[in-house]
Amino acid sequence: MIKTLNKFIRDDSGAVMVLVALGLVALIGSMALVIDAGVGYAARMKASNAVDAAVLAGSQELPDDPTAALNAAKNYVSLNGVDLADVTFSIGEDHRSITGDINREQDMYFAHIFGINTRNLKAHAKVKVGPATKLGAGTGVVPIGVLQDDIKYNQPIVMKEGGGSGLQGWYGSLDLESLTGGNGGSSTYEHYLTYGYDGEGTVGYNTLILEENGNMNSANANAIEYRMDLCAAECDVECTPENYDPDCPRFVVVPVGYMEADNKHFHVTSFAAFFIMDYTGNGKDNYITGQFIKPYYITGAEVDDTITDNGVYARVLCE
Ligand SMILES: [Zn+2]
Repeated sequence: MIKTLNKFIRDDSGAVMVLVALGLVALIGSMALVIDAGVGYAARMKASNAVDAAVLAGSQELPDDPTAALNAAKNYVSLNGVDLADVTFSIGEDHRSITGDINREQDMYFAHIFGINTRNLKAHAKVKVGPATKLGAGTGVVPIGVLQDDIKYNQPIVMKEGGGSGLQGWYGSLDLESLTGGNGGSSTYEHYLTYGYDGEGTVGYNTLILEENGNMNSANANAIEYRMDLCAAECDVECTPENYDPDCPRFVVVPVGYMEADNKHFHVTSFAAFFIMDYTGNGKDNYITGQFIKPYYITGAEVDDTITDNGVYARVLCE
């Protein structure tokens, strides 16, 4: 080969020109491929991120308002520089999913040399919305168990520890340490009620949680006072059940379920979101006034369509 090449170089400058020309075509061709591949990759990533963000934004209106969900998704994708003509959004029949597809022609740069002017660019995303399960750290779940029958919306609720007296029951104070095999007390109870559960375990459908024994009066008082003060200090509006900052610390996510026959374990079947309005307590008589609110969205949990829907939803980017 070297010998042949040398022969060309020495004996035939015309052939050398041909070789150089062929080499240049190959070089430019590969440059075209590399640059256009890079530009194409960047465009696909941008489209993919835009459609992900759009369906996530839209999903915040589901399942209650599919029209608002579509509008939110369109608005979001436009803000991210995508032409609305290039994107379609659709809502699932049960209003529990939103899908977005971007489909457009992407301009090529160097590939024009070879007569290739555009390439098809596609991006797809789907978000599923449904009753939340497997709530772990950061989901806002607190150690208060509530019975399913006591979940009522659009009205103030006075929950009393242990239930009874014609008031809606807050059936029991729960020991969330038991999720990881431990045994808590009033100080861990207070911590979890103040900040939301931040341990290693998760609470989900069919989870059994030990009931917390003892008087939780001061733990309840401290935790709720902390939340009310933080709301006053940090929320953008003066929060009420009708008009609140979505991140308001007065929101707690309570496990909903029933007491096992052993009278020691609370059996979780679902979750509900409670907006705290007031707390009064004395001795064993602890009262939390507030309102159950739906929908309420949490991040970092899983969706389970089979469990009771009390309006606490997780959103999962599933495609
Ligand atoms: Zn607030």
